[in-house]
Amino acid sequence: MKGSFLDQIETKVKPTIPVVAVVGTGVIGRSWVQVFARAGCETRLYDPDAAQIDKALMWLDQELDTHGRALVRAYPDLEEALAGAGYVQESGPEQIELKKAIYARLDDAATPATILGSSTSAHDMSEIAAGLPGANRCIVAHPVNPPHLIPVVEILPGVKTDPDVVTRTREFMTSVGQKPVLMNYYVPAFLLNRMQAALLKEAISLVESGVADVDSVDTVIREGLGLRWALMGPFGVANTNADGGIREYFTRYGQAYKDCMNELGPTPSFDPEMIERLGQGTDAMTGNASLQEICEWRERLIRKIRNLKAEDPHPS
Ligand code: NAD
Repeated sequence: MKGSFLDQIETKVKPTIPVVAVVGTGVIGRSWVQVFARAGCETRLYDPDAAQIDKALMWLDQELDTHGRALVRAYPDLEEALAGAGYVQESGPEQIELKKAIYARLDDAATPATILGSSTSAHDMSEIAAGLPGANRCIVAHPVNPPHLIPVVEILPGVKTDPDVVTRTREFMTSVGQKPVLMNYYVPAFLLNRMQAALLKEAISLVESGVADVDSVDTVIREGLGLRWALMGPFGVANTNADGGIREYFTRYGQAYKDCMNELGPTPSFDPEMIERLGQGTDAMTGNASLQEICEWRERLIRKIRNLKAEDPHPS
């Protein structure tokens, strides 16, 4: 979508870091390029696979307006791409040994003030940057796919990361229109995927045990909890569920929640039969639409929801 709505709504401030590099331009990397370029950053791309660069540039041709597209340039050489960049968004494959090797190279090539952010979904920066001279400027900046549409970014320092790097990364992410959230220390799967796993665990258990079918479980989220969740998280919702706010709500219903939490379902097996059963359930919900049509509809509506939220923000 050229001249993206986010140009007007989200990025009223100038980026705090004007030149950035995206290293690895697959699904996540190319989406990051859009985030940075539409915010006005000079954005350098590097990927060892030239076909991935071509694919990313073709996609960006469609997505960015002329101004944003002019800020994007691909480099065949990593060192050249990093020269002058104040922030790097590493978005290479999710394998720990590869991440370590990429980071060793980034740390070697980038000037000491450059922040080295990683899109990793699972790894601890303390491990990726262990032993590197520049471990103090390495940090996880984990997006949700795709970051050009979904703004939250989980910011997670390693044990050696400078507090100043945490501050600068958060400021930079805010200045390009993202919503950084800070984690104080590493836990597997970070925040978003942990909460997603907790909900999926129960959703699958309810279907597996025959309490309800796939459509019923999805409808409860889609036409119930999910409508509020686009506006408030679980604590914000709890705060609006009683006249006296969250204190009254949890005082009155805390025991009921405890009883329920104590009997939640087991960890699912993910065996082929179970997956097939869930597949048949989602096929029925998909109807005649193609998966691509559904994804395009999802993207259209996420943009509209974000516009609505920007037009009528939380009254805080
Ligand atoms: P992808 O496979 O689409 O892209 C990875 C890219 O890295 C490829 O273009 C590949 O050519 C490139 N690459 C390979 N070796 C490299 C090297 N040595 N240096 C630089 N680049 C190299 O993967 P993706 O889905 O874009 O994931 C990238 C990162 O983002 C991973 O760490 C992943 O965990 C994280 N992430 C992914 C998602 C998601 O839903 N896909 C969501 C959040 C975070």
